[in-house]
Amino acid sequence: MKFQPKASHFINGEYVEDTSGAPIDVIYPATGEIIARLHSATPEILEQALNSAKAAQVAWAAMSGTERGRVLRRAADIMRDRNHELSIIETHDTGKPLQETLVADATSGADALEYFGGLAASLTGEHIPLGGGDFVYTIREALGVCVGIGAWNYPTQIACWKGAPALACGNSMVFKPSETTPLSALQVAEILIEAGAPKGVYNVVQGYGDVGASLVTDLRVAKVSLTGSVPTGRKVYAAAAGSMKHVTMELGGKSPMIVFDDADIDNAVSGAILGNFYSSGQVCSNGTRVFVQKGIKEAFLARLSERLATAKIGDPMDEEVNFGPMVSENQMNIALGYVEKGKAEGARLVFGGERVKGDGFYMQPTVFADVTDAMTIAREEIFGPVMSVLDFDTEEEVLARANDTEFGLAAGVFTSDLTRAHRIVAGFEAGTCYINTYNLAPVEAPFGGSKLSGVGRENSKLAINHYSEMKTVYVSLNDVEAPY
Ligand code: NDP
Repeated sequence: MKFQPKASHFINGEYVEDTSGAPIDVIYPATGEIIARLHSATPEILEQALNSAKAAQVAWAAMSGTERGRVLRRAADIMRDRNHELSIIETHDTGKPLQETLVADATSGADALEYFGGLAASLTGEHIPLGGGDFVYTIREALGVCVGIGAWNYPTQIACWKGAPALACGNSMVFKPSETTPLSALQVAEILIEAGAPKGVYNVVQGYGDVGASLVTDLRVAKVSLTGSVPTGRKVYAAAAGSMKHVTMELGGKSPMIVFDDADIDNAVSGAILGNFYSSGQVCSNGTRVFVQKGIKEAFLARLSERLATAKIGDPMDEEVNFGPMVSENQMNIALGYVEKGKAEGARLVFGGERVKGDGFYMQPTVFADVTDAMTIAREEIFGPVMSVLDFDTEEEVLARANDTEFGLAAGVFTSDLTRAHRIVAGFEAGTCYINTYNLAPVEAPFGGSKLSGVGRENSKLAINHYSEMKTVYVSLNDVEAPY
């Protein structure tokens, strides 16, 4: 098979196999062809991974931050050198067009390795004077073994966004990719070893949800970072609470994008395209509820349809193609099911809505107009290329409607009135907001959600606080006074 890795798991610096684990077929979404067969981790494999992560962590944490950082920065360089090869694997694993994977996956992973590699040497505690010569100092310590569990939409990026800050702080990691896209994390593990990471510092185990569930309750594990859906997040958060583990939850959304009638329409349409159809709509922060002020609604829809008609749907390996298949037949059927719900509940289909003929899991970029707040397509996360356009009259009304959701991952506003833009953003109940742009996630800025969309933040200096904890040390230079 064309993309068969040496083995399913990567533990203690080596590929490891146990064919008694349940088979995992890796399917190329553009053709439906099986490109690799892996096996889910057995309890013995999980023992090996956790023991190796536990054993490696202490020596890794004892190294200086400069040394750890150097390993991560070397790994970033190797990833960039191999970007083309890694992008081809990512495209076969996910179906995302090569045009996208060349610029958004291994490159984003390399950015995280470089950024946290650069920070590693500066992770310190502080000195707090208490008077009379007494003082406190704090030591920033690693948490221990961290578990990362990934979704299938950005497998390389997720493996690095969790691994890089964890390793920078002196933790080790056991990472479980989604069983739908198991290939890329193995590449990340190999590259870290090549860059000089000690064996066992970054391990990858494959498996279905049950493997993730076993990792989350293991007493050797100090922290769990999940990227996934809200229902999975609830289960993982609850399971982690049993042993009071640290958690980061990067979950789903149904984010609003507000377009006022003074907005630059082409920029707003570009934002709506990026925020709904990049990666065939399989992006957690997508602005899938597009509120357009009534005066420009028809002009917005006309321009959007005109632009969507120029999307190049096809073979994701063709670098001209900018709209690929969905990750799996199942995910495509879920999205097509929402299209039927949209029609049944009375939304107006303006563009797309059909499966594209062929063996691949393609559906057209789809736009509904005249969507109301109560419709299923406006309330539930679809995680596919389905945009809902809703209209509004006033600022006050639209802000209340934008916030009327249990999710709070992202939110955006397009307007030429910057005072209004800042006022709107201050009112958004969301962790990641955009003014006159959409869906950026550079490593320097915190990324994460409010409400049901998550707990904690990835990226930026803030991520360090989610992968380390402070030890407080009191020091007295004076006699100890006791009452008797
Ligand atoms: P899922 O929630 O289905 O799965 C996420 C991961 O959790 C998978 O690796 C899955 O394994 C694993 N898992 C499932 N059940 C359990 C369990 N009980 N205990 C431990 N692990 C478990 O999400 P998807 O993979 O379908 O990804 C899509 C979702 O991810 C969307 O909701 C999307 O919004 C969200 N997402 C959030 C992002 C963010 O940063 N906020 C970014 C990207 C996606 P398996 O696949 O084998 O079942």
